Amino acid sequence: MQVIENSDIKTNNKKRIIKLLAKERELTKLEISRKLDISVPTVTTIVGELIEEGMVLEAGMATSTGGRKPVIIRFLPNSRFSIGLELGKEYARAVLTDLDGKIIEDKRKALDVINEDEVLDKMKCLIKEMFESNENINGKLLGIGFSLPGIVNEAELKLEIATNFKLKNLYFKEFQDYFNVPIYLENEANAGALGESKLGVAKDLTNLIYVSITEGVGAGILINESMYKGKGMRAGEIGHMTIYKNGRACNCGKRGCFETYASNRALINDYYEVTNIKTSNIGEIIEKFQRGDSSAAKVIEAYIEDLAEGIGNLNFIFNPDYIVIGGEISKYSEVFQSKLVAKIFNNNQFYNEGDVEILFSALGSDSNILGAALIPILKNFGFGKI
Ligand SMILES: [Zn+2]
Repeated sequence: MQVIENSDIKTNNKKRIIKLLAKERELTKLEISRKLDISVPTVTTIVGELIEEGMVLEAGMATSTGGRKPVIIRFLPNSRFSIGLELGKEYARAVLTDLDGKIIEDKRKALDVINEDEVLDKMKCLIKEMFESNENINGKLLGIGFSLPGIVNEAELKLEIATNFKLKNLYFKEFQDYFNVPIYLENEANAGALGESKLGVAKDLTNLIYVSITEGVGAGILINESMYKGKGMRAGEIGHMTIYKNGRACNCGKRGCFETYASNRALINDYYEVTNIKTSNIGEIIEKFQRGDSSAAKVIEAYIEDLAEGIGNLNFIFNPDYIVIGGEISKYSEVFQSKLVAKIFNNNQFYNEGDVEILFSALGSDSNILGAALIPILKNFGFGKI
């Protein structure tokens, strides 16, 4: 019993030292000892192990405060790696990152058809290619995190359902055996919330709602720095809250769901209905609006109104520090932000503008996939460039 406890303490101290060095980058052993209240001999033993494992190195001497000059210990962010995968509209994407969440390689494959076999096959190919083009990651890959647009079962490594992709029961267990690294699954909005809270505009915040706008709409809910997932991991399915009773038909079978008005797909369909012009992404419509296209203006005005309705509801429920909007739309915050904020806060007696900040993701379309890549890092060391 005593032995187990001691080894737990040591593992914990090691994680704390790695986390501190990841944040501070360079420290002496004495500084580590003082900041973490761990004895110098213990710090020396653990740092010795970290040097052997290649996670830190001795990088010259610090200025002496009297006596021998102390050695500087430097953190090496590219000593371990992580892979993030994402299933998007008609594509699968993979990124390789270092311990800071910096993207080293970014690969994408078009999906010829959307079905279970095709998705798994293309994702497997992407990972294989990542290994082939980066031989240095062998033995240094912490794991692979997946950002998936639906309800995931983390324990069974299964995507249970993704309504907008008409996918059901996608099993990732085989990946774990095939690549011999840990696999983690996460819903795309939760992954986005994680990415945003560690690397994006919402760093250092405790209460955050991340609204992921892609083919559908979902939310990642961080309360006091913990992800709230709900019973059955189904919290945050805000895309299916009703904003118009008996409104538009949704892929889920209900009517009037938020995402039938606020998703990328909704904006593209709305523009088509007004103009009969097909567009493949929301950027085309927004650029038309910026060039003065009146049909685009009409469609975007209506879109903002409905988006404000849903986001206003989230504010009433959670009253968080920040609501961060992510996805392709976040690249065009200058078009949306002020109008959206005005609509959310006008005519309500409960909140004034500024009580809750409405932000657009600075990570653009990367927050979900970066969040996925952060999962293996967080599971191993409890940090991700904090
Ligand atoms: Zn629905």
